[in-house]
Amino acid sequence: MNCLDDEILSAYADGEARPGERVRVRAHVRGCAGCARTLDEFSAFKRALGGGGEAPPMPDDLRESLEALRPREAARRERAPLWRPMLAVALACLAGLFLCAQRPAPEELPLEPLLEAHHRFADAGALSPRFREAGR
Ligand SMILES: [Zn+2]
Repeated sequence: MNCLDDEILSAYADGEARPGERVRVRAHVRGCAGCARTLDEFSAFKRALGGGGEAPPMPDDLRESLEALRPREAARRERAPLWRPMLAVALACLAGLFLCAQRPAPEELPLEPLLEAHHRFADAGALSPRFREAGR
């Protein structure tokens, strides 16, 4: 009798064999110890991976330490990245507004009095001759 491919046995253990293959596998392993053993091994492997049977329960102490970690993790992840950059942006905006309010607009600069003062200063000889020539 022809033995079954490992592929078919593996698919059967995974529950992924087609209906026709399933009938063939069941019929064959009833009479073939070798394939029955191979199928057992595939099934055990599948269970060990957690795909076939139920997952083993999580140890209590592990679950407790995970539960203890979770709120802190969530709080750190949710709060810190949200309010800190927002606060920084708000402060930057406030600082920008404050600086803009403090500085007069260019057209509001008292140019005439400044120029008059400069010329008075230059005429008084406070500047070196070189600057006086250049300023005139
Ligand atoms: Zn066989």
